[in-house]
Amino acid sequence: MFQSKEQFKLIFLQKLQMMYGKRFEDTTVSEQYHALGQLVREQISAQWIETNEKHRTCKRKQVYYLSIEFLLGRMLGNNLLNLGIRDLCEEALREIGISLVELEECEIDAGLGNGGLGRLAACFLDSLASLNLPGHGCGIRYKHGLFDQKIVNGYQVELPEQWLTHGNVWEVRRADEAVDVKFWGEVEAYRENDHLKFRHIGAETITAVPYDMPIIGYKTSTVNTLRLWNAEAAPYPTHKNVLQYKRETEAVSEFLYPDDTNDEGKILRLKQQYFLVAASLRSIINSYRKQYPDLSTLYQYVAIHINDTHPVLAIPELMRILVDEESIPWDEAWEITTKTISYTNHTTLSEALERWPVPIFKPLLPRIFMIVEEINERFCRELWDIYTGEWDHIERMALISHGVIRMAHLAIVGSHSINGVAKIHTEILKHREMNDFYVLFPNRFNNKTNGITHRRWLLKANPQLSTLITDSIGEKWITEPEELRRLEHFADNYSFKEQLMNVKQKRKEILASRIYNQTGLKIDTQSIFDVQVKRLHAYKRQLLNVLHIMHLYNKLKENPNYDIHPRTFIFGAKASPGYHYAKKIIKLINTVADKVNHDPVISNILKVVFIENYRVSIAEEIIPATDVSIQISTASKEASGTGNMKFMMNGALTLGTLDGANIEIGDAVGKENIYTFGLTSDEVLNYYENGGYRSTDYYHHNKPIQMVVDQLVNGFFPKTGTEFELIYDSLLVQNDEFFVLKDLLAYIPIQQEVGRGYGKKSDWYRKSTLNISKSGYFSSDRTIKEYADGIWGLSKVLVK
Ligand SMILES: *Cc1c(COP(=O)(O)O)cnc(C)c1O
Repeated sequence: MFQSKEQFKLIFLQKLQMMYGKRFEDTTVSEQYHALGQLVREQISAQWIETNEKHRTCKRKQVYYLSIEFLLGRMLGNNLLNLGIRDLCEEALREIGISLVELEECEIDAGLGNGGLGRLAACFLDSLASLNLPGHGCGIRYKHGLFDQKIVNGYQVELPEQWLTHGNVWEVRRADEAVDVKFWGEVEAYRENDHLKFRHIGAETITAVPYDMPIIGYKTSTVNTLRLWNAEAAPYPTHKNVLQYKRETEAVSEFLYPDDTNDEGKILRLKQQYFLVAASLRSIINSYRKQYPDLSTLYQYVAIHINDTHPVLAIPELMRILVDEESIPWDEAWEITTKTISYTNHTTLSEALERWPVPIFKPLLPRIFMIVEEINERFCRELWDIYTGEWDHIERMALISHGVIRMAHLAIVGSHSINGVAKIHTEILKHREMNDFYVLFPNRFNNKTNGITHRRWLLKANPQLSTLITDSIGEKWITEPEELRRLEHFADNYSFKEQLMNVKQKRKEILASRIYNQTGLKIDTQSIFDVQVKRLHAYKRQLLNVLHIMHLYNKLKENPNYDIHPRTFIFGAKASPGYHYAKKIIKLINTVADKVNHDPVISNILKVVFIENYRVSIAEEIIPATDVSIQISTASKEASGTGNMKFMMNGALTLGTLDGANIEIGDAVGKENIYTFGLTSDEVLNYYENGGYRSTDYYHHNKPIQMVVDQLVNGFFPKTGTEFELIYDSLLVQNDEFFVLKDLLAYIPIQQEVGRGYGKKSDWYRKSTLNISKSGYFSSDRTIKEYADGIWGLSKVLVK
């Protein structure tokens, strides 16, 4: 790498000149960013080749992590940090009049994901490389990532995202490794050596071209690969209408579906899923083949992990390759397949469980459909032997039923490991949602509580806090996050806590000035920063948060001397474009913000800010500035959450329900150091099963609740007319599916407690210190080690 600042400057200036053919003084910041990015990629290319070479020849197991989303965010700062040259570059650039931070801000986020699921995949890649594990990502190179959000007149407006317009310096197109993927057509049966065989004829071929991105481990020699597939027209299309074929082909990697909870019944989405799987498996097997002649040992050297059910067609696709192409008998092929594949479940929301109608699936993927049918028939026959005569039971578990294919069932039946993402989520899977399968395959189910990479979310995002931590306990925590535990001894150290408070104050000021520059809104940095940032969804209950703000407004109007610590409520959230209810909530947040922020009396005490276009890079600014982390999903609904972990690691205290990983955060810090409230998941699930909740009871018997609910529709917000009727009806007419009103009753007092707690600064920062000190467990390094040991059977491969 670079030996000195002087050497770096020389190479950088040369690069800039070569790329743009102009004097340094005339180059733009964006050009400087591209030059630096290019330079970094070139600098690591030798190490990348070395890693690939090592992985090819070491005869050790490799894992391929298949995910329909990778929410990477920006790469430059992280790559410099992992290479251990960020300080050198920053100083050298400063000496020639360039701000590295400004260059970093030129980079457009790679937003190839919706939220937690895609960000998890990105965190895992960082941990795999940093732990020297041979693990690679496989995904789709969407031309447009998740839409850009603008707020216009309080409404969300979506604009197409354009991350590739100025090129992506991190990727390398590998046209020589392109593979074909086939859709439509028919299956033809034929005989070969007295065996019945099948081939796919009359198919339409799409070419999948890989773009590889280097994944650089933290201060190691490992550079793993994220392979993203681009859909392109085959070179010599036989199609009658070439233009139409080209358009349809390119559409496959054009857009990320802006929804992570349910799939529109779109052929395109299914095409994307099979495209990812078929291209990835082809390339995995091509590279396996270079070392090993025989696919019968595949599972000894290859682990394929499917992130939720979106890549579940890896199961029938691997069967197709083994049976049709390799002529391996079905039973042996099935053993190889199930030993190779493992699956993570991310949700128990029934509307989010993927189900594909046969009439859509079968014509698009005729051979894959036959294989799924065969898997189903064999599975149902096994069930018949166990549950003879219990038709209902067998029907409940079948892979295909009433004309739809249940992807989660296929995933469970076709993999050797099924994991949930937090303890409570895994328990719900085992004992409720997937209980039938747990009874049948108890050993397949296991838990792997999610994690986040502490290098991006603490070291990179919060350099002020990182410096304080390193000054206090040394730098071992960067590679061994459990070392953060040693901060426990500083929980009563006055000077440490004062410095921690100063760091938080500094970060609040940075965020406040960004908000001021973008919106003109002045916020009080002495106020409590109370933050809820995550996708907008009914179960995440941004509504509960808003109704509470309306309640505070009412209290203050009634009694201007009402004793309350000043607060700034910060929101950031995108709503899926077709999700009308979620969009109404965004409008409501902005309407309340307008009312509160423009009230001369109230606005000195309360402020409400909606930060538009929430994404990874914004999260990196908001999270370090947060005092209170709002994690208030209806219990049982949030499988894990990972935002909660990022906040904890940055010293925010959690105010949350007993849901997902909040429970484990609470167990780690102790109940004095977290604020929990509301229905438990057992209570929620029992209500769903047995009934007994009546939201109107809570409305009629509690004046403050009645008041805020009425204000949605009674003209309290001028000129909103029937705008919020949908929300009003969801609460009263549809019996409040997510228990907002019941939990609001508990939320009001717990928020008062938070306010009082914040007033006792020394105590607050004691809690904050303890939260940071217990956050090491929630590093994705720990999670990935558990996957590597418990699921994949993966061990370290050291690259020279
Ligand atoms: C971490 C993260 C999420 C997930 O947040 P949750 O609160 O766990 O839903 C979503 N979006 C972005 C940009 C993130 O960084």
